[in-house]
Amino acid sequence: MKKITIAIDGFSSCGKSTMAKDLAKEIGYIYIDSGAMYRAVTLYALENGLFEGNEPNADRLEKEMPHIHITFRINPATGRPDTYLNGVNVENRIRNMEVSAHVSPIAALPFVRQALVAQQQEMGREKGIVMDGRDIGTTVFPDAELKIFVTASPEIRAQRRYDELKNKGQEADYENILENVKQRDYIDQHREVSPLRRADDALLLDNSHLSIAQQKEWLLQAYYRICEKA
Ligand code: C5P
Repeated sequence: MKKITIAIDGFSSCGKSTMAKDLAKEIGYIYIDSGAMYRAVTLYALENGLFEGNEPNADRLEKEMPHIHITFRINPATGRPDTYLNGVNVENRIRNMEVSAHVSPIAALPFVRQALVAQQQEMGREKGIVMDGRDIGTTVFPDAELKIFVTASPEIRAQRRYDELKNKGQEADYENILENVKQRDYIDQHREVSPLRRADDALLLDNSHLSIAQQKEWLLQAYYRICEKA
């Protein structure tokens, strides 16, 4: 079957990664979590003193960008890709609240986006890829054959993120997470470069009241419909 490009965009914590990973596994495609790349740059900035209060020092970070190398390697235990920053596995650290609270201003910096978008386009050059993020269907792969825009209410998304952190044994406070979810929605939708928006040709999926199994079925059907046409 001809390989296609699948772009999954949407709000934070709406289960994009879970659905994208499952779909990629099912159809034998590569999966790339573009948010993990913005998170890895944020972790680097936090660990190297490149934040002044809540704001990144853009000049210093821009000089450091050539030294930030992000790669993905399949974790044999989970069968899923882990994120590596300069050769070190940072998969767990990039998911903590400190990184979540600082990632949106990093992702709003044009030079960060330019560098990461170029890497993402290179990863998808041969198609057969599922990538999730905020600007995949609009900026990274505007010609993707299948585009999906996922949404769910902020309260449901905050609850999911809370459950995820708790399950990993990490600290979590629901109100704090809800505030972070709303704040990131706002910054992501209102930034100047590649704001979060639904591409005109993206299918809308509101998964507030869908189980993982129902969502998987919806996605597979969308994929097979596109493949029949391709
Ligand atoms: O998807 P996730 O919540 O892990 O992404 C973390 C942050 O990275 C988002 O809140 C957003 O600010 C940024 N992001 C982005 N463009 C992408 C993916 C993520 O700006 N393609």
